[in-house]
Amino acid sequence: MLSIVATPIGNLGDITLRAIETLKKCDVVVCEDTRVTGNLLKQLEIPKKEFISMHGYSDSKKIDVIMHRLRKGEHLALVSDAGTPGISDPGYALVSAAVERGIQIEVVPGPAAFLAALSGSGLPINQFVYIGFLPLKKGRKSLIATFAAEERTIVFYESVHRIEKTLMEIAEALKDQPERKIVIGRELTKMHEEFLRTTVGAWRAKPLQIIKKGEFVIMIGAI
Ligand code: SAM
Repeated sequence: MLSIVATPIGNLGDITLRAIETLKKCDVVVCEDTRVTGNLLKQLEIPKKEFISMHGYSDSKKIDVIMHRLRKGEHLALVSDAGTPGISDPGYALVSAAVERGIQIEVVPGPAAFLAALSGSGLPINQFVYIGFLPLKKGRKSLIATFAAEERTIVFYESVHRIEKTLMEIAEALKDQPERKIVIGRELTKMHEEFLRTTVGAWRAKPLQIIKKGEFVIMIGAI
């Protein structure tokens, strides 16, 4: 069986009982960085496990090895460095391969940064569109241009290096909609968690001072 196990996005207290149980009882943990997952297991006082690391999104040789082990009846747990596997993280290709081969899967849900961000955003979240990371070059401008007509809350991830540039691009693309709300979630669930709130018009008049440290989720309110 393949268990898809969500892990904390910065606060160990967010690990679920089922995640702990699953990581304890599985035969192998499939992860990204073995040091990150090794550290998590250590903090949870789970005895050392065999790890298979999968950095790429579709490492076909590794997927074959994993499928072979699953077919032999072993119990594998898939985790990512943080949050929910497959959400802007490796995992999709593995789950897809397991599903195609009729291998039993189970989900062990838990944290995801975009859900934490949306829940504290104060924006309408009955409907939203999750974009992952914006493309760096090709298609970036045209994707941002679609925000002007989006009737759902928009949520995406951004790195510390591009946060200001991206906000400037968005403010420019939405300049005819000065009331559109912008919410930035930084370091969610961690010691320095904060939500910064502005509008396109206010940002254009005076950009917010953003502490350029940590991890960010950007949300744009609907039209
Ligand atoms: N799988 C993860 C999830 O379920 O959210 C996402 C992994 S993605 C590679 C990493 C990005 O998620 C970061 O660059 C940041 O944009 C966002 N992120 C992860 N943890 C965060 C946190 N604690 N606060 C704010 N954003 C976070």
